Amino acid sequence: MKNIFVTRPFLPEKSEFLKYIDSIWDSCILTNNGPLASQLEIELKKYLNVTSALFVTNGTIALQIAIKALELKGKILTTPFSYVATLNSIIWESCEPIFVDIDKNSFNINVDLLESSMDPDVVAIMATHVFGNPCDVEKLEKFGVKHGLKIIYDAAHSFGVEINNESVFKYGDISTTSFHATKLFHTFEGGALFCTDIEIERKLFLLRSFGHYGDDYYYPSINGKNSEIHAAMGLSIIPRLTEIINTRKTLTEAYDTLINFKNIQKQRISEKVKYNYSYYPILLESEDKCMGLIKALTDNNIYPRRYFFPSLNLMPYLTSHKQCVISESISKRILCLPLHNDLVINDIKRISEIINKVV
Ligand SMILES: *Cc1c(COP(=O)(O)O)cnc(C)c1O
Repeated sequence: MKNIFVTRPFLPEKSEFLKYIDSIWDSCILTNNGPLASQLEIELKKYLNVTSALFVTNGTIALQIAIKALELKGKILTTPFSYVATLNSIIWESCEPIFVDIDKNSFNINVDLLESSMDPDVVAIMATHVFGNPCDVEKLEKFGVKHGLKIIYDAAHSFGVEINNESVFKYGDISTTSFHATKLFHTFEGGALFCTDIEIERKLFLLRSFGHYGDDYYYPSINGKNSEIHAAMGLSIIPRLTEIINTRKTLTEAYDTLINFKNIQKQRISEKVKYNYSYYPILLESEDKCMGLIKALTDNNIYPRRYFFPSLNLMPYLTSHKQCVISESISKRILCLPLHNDLVINDIKRISEIINKVV
């Protein structure tokens, strides 16, 4: 029986990739925002229809650079239901995370709880578009303006997602994304920063490269530049994006029709959204049922993932553990089912049959 993992990196034609590798040998430029990295940024801007895109080494450094660029010092309202990089970037940048519980349908930060989470030391919001499902960006922006807060979106899952007919990366003071191998679009490792303000863009540009431009030094900054070989992978994948998203859509629709949802809840995707089908999360009725399903699937060489688990407010290295009832409950019961471009409808059938038998 073949192994089916929750995800599998997309690989373009090797010849496509090698064409770019040849060009690296020709130019002998390996990094420092070379021709391929610059071309990737241009292609990304075109594909996403955004005005700025800065290619960096990974999605976590993107979050850290975003915090630095907005000069955040103090408390940041954030979600307990995200990958641990969201939380860690806040702590690494010496800010204090204040968890705001999530909405039980969208799995995103609950905008109705923001007001009661406020105190005078709060300077920003860092929210994740969970599984690519956009947060309530309008309400968040309104709240941010009212309290003078900056907004950073961790849009690591949101490549290609549109809301109101434009890229979700346009929202917030800064949006970040990840191009890690497991993400819908990847560059082996990588990430990007997006913003609409040219002053912030200039700052991000400097912060990515040690904080200097030529002999002019501005900030004591880090190295977040990515290399030509990483850019080469991105450039080889961009022409395949329509196909990648369409395949995921077909597989998603197969799950939608084949799974019996009597005892299973799905994430509610916001309206007005063009979705990217990046994940297929299902929510079971209890942790026991979730563990039972994992056992049944792994017995058949199918490996779903508890994602996100555990709820970030329970991380052992935090000094206090604020309760987030919804996030804690959902993280114990959620399972991301296999979804990647090497799956076929028969795989989805087999997975769905096991689910329908066990749940
Ligand atoms: C993948 C991911 C990150 C981290 O990105 P890396 O490129 O692996 O550093 C951050 N946030 C979320 C929500 C992610 O899924």
